[in-house]
Amino acid sequence: MTKELMWRTVLVEPGRFIREQVPVPVPAPGEVLVRVTHVGVCGSDLAALHGKHPYIQCPIVLGHECSGVIAGGDDKTLPVGTRVAVNPTLPCFACDACQHERYNMCATRRCIGAQADGAHAEYVVVPAGMALPIPDSMSLRDAALIEPMAVAYHGLKRVGDLSGRRVMVVGAGPIGISAVQSAQVLGAQSVWVADLDPRRLQLACNLGAQGTIDVSKESLGDGMARMNAGAAPADVLVDCVGGKGAVLDQLVLKAPRGADVLVVGVLAYGYDMPNLPDFVEHELTLYGTTMYVNQDYREVIDHIAAGRLRTDGLVTHTYSLDNIAEAFAEIEAGRDFFFKVVLEAS
Ligand SMILES: [Zn+2]
Ligand SMILES: [Zn+2]
Repeated sequence: MTKELMWRTVLVEPGRFIREQVPVPVPAPGEVLVRVTHVGVCGSDLAALHGKHPYIQCPIVLGHECSGVIAGGDDKTLPVGTRVAVNPTLPCFACDACQHERYNMCATRRCIGAQADGAHAEYVVVPAGMALPIPDSMSLRDAALIEPMAVAYHGLKRVGDLSGRRVMVVGAGPIGISAVQSAQVLGAQSVWVADLDPRRLQLACNLGAQGTIDVSKESLGDGMARMNAGAAPADVLVDCVGGKGAVLDQLVLKAPRGADVLVVGVLAYGYDMPNLPDFVEHELTLYGTTMYVNQDYREVIDHIAAGRLRTDGLVTHTYSLDNIAEAFAEIEAGRDFFFKVVLEAS
């Protein structure tokens, strides 16, 4: 039996969480109740904490990188006890994109933990189709990493067939390292990664990056020249930084003619790109990407289960879901090397 009351943590205003008891939500037909076991902390949660996320308004229950166990609902394929990873998208299910399971293209989609209450709670209700079963061999903690991995995987798939291509990823955060691994899984011949934190670069190497560019020690251009010496130039360039577009502008400047440039990082509005003429003149192709689709989740689940996408070393800290304010305060204080932080139900 499911409990009638549950605890959840609400960001009531920027900087202030409260923990409160509310009724356990009741799934409508076609929905499932998930007992949350693990929730990843994302950079966007930290932006929301400071009221700086463009699409998240308080009060909100954050948490969109979530895994757990089915605890209720009428879906015959998801009996109580099924272990699942949750795709946090709440699509309309009616539009043309939704009819083709391209939920990330749904114009009215929302996302739990952003425009609807998320997983910083004991239970969350989601559409049955958004709860994707994981194999017995996969831990529920790893299942909470599928969301950020699927972001990178979807982006790299947008570029198309990567077989034999050389890929350069800028930004070795959780998405960047997932981009490195995704490129390899999708057939890239070699993948290099650039960052200014040597600990992140080391982690990227442990998970298969073939070369690194430490931009605290050499320029991106010099590093790319080193990567390209005596080989076909890297012509898939991935920006996992975003921000005001400085990295994208550098990539446009340094990209070989005909290259593909993919932006996975979140770009701020109002930036300018001094090197845009090179984009035109060198016939570059620019790819945008947003979230993922269920097929990405299924493939990422398979790749993790088969050991082709690895999670070792990604989670540096775990905290209790009961103490989210403290977890966020520790992350912000930054007294340690925080990479992926996972909140765990007690
Ligand atoms: Zn996220
Ligand atoms: Zn739709």
